[in-house]
Amino acid sequence: MKYWLFILIPIAFLTSCGDDESEFEPVYDVPSEFQPFVSSFFEIAESKGLVLDTNNIIIRFEQNLEVDELPVCGTSEGPLNAIEQHLILIDEQCLAWRSGELAQEILMFHELGHVFLERVHDETVFPSGDYKTIMFGGNWNILRYYTQDLSKREYYINELFNPLEPTPDWAE
Ligand SMILES: [Zn+2]
Repeated sequence: MKYWLFILIPIAFLTSCGDDESEFEPVYDVPSEFQPFVSSFFEIAESKGLVLDTNNIIIRFEQNLEVDELPVCGTSEGPLNAIEQHLILIDEQCLAWRSGELAQEILMFHELGHVFLERVHDETVFPSGDYKTIMFGGNWNILRYYTQDLSKREYYINELFNPLEPTPDWAE
């Protein structure tokens, strides 16, 4: 009888590990409002040689989003919270969502940066007053990125995918 226990325990352990991995099936559910930003993000990632699990993303609108009891424009779940299914929630009433396509792109790329690139918040401000990155975690002062000056977009996109991107001249 005792011999059985030695055999059964390792088998049970191996089986449960195997089940955990096969149980997770990523869901892709991206409504049309968000699709252009997701497609654009995936295209940029591909152009930079990154292979992402593009089947793993759920995005939806949610009202009155809060983090630590403060209103926010978007939240996300993913590898940074050790959650396998990537999820992004966007507050449709938030200023960043209501301020046009570029502001929406910045908000979406910020959240996609959390879930696909595992970028965390970075509050660095350049001498010019511009934020170093769209991964800035504070309130959404969307004027400090590229909504007023599209020529800055290239820097912010490069920085999102490579935090070591050199400081641009306009930020000195
Ligand atoms: Zn964030």
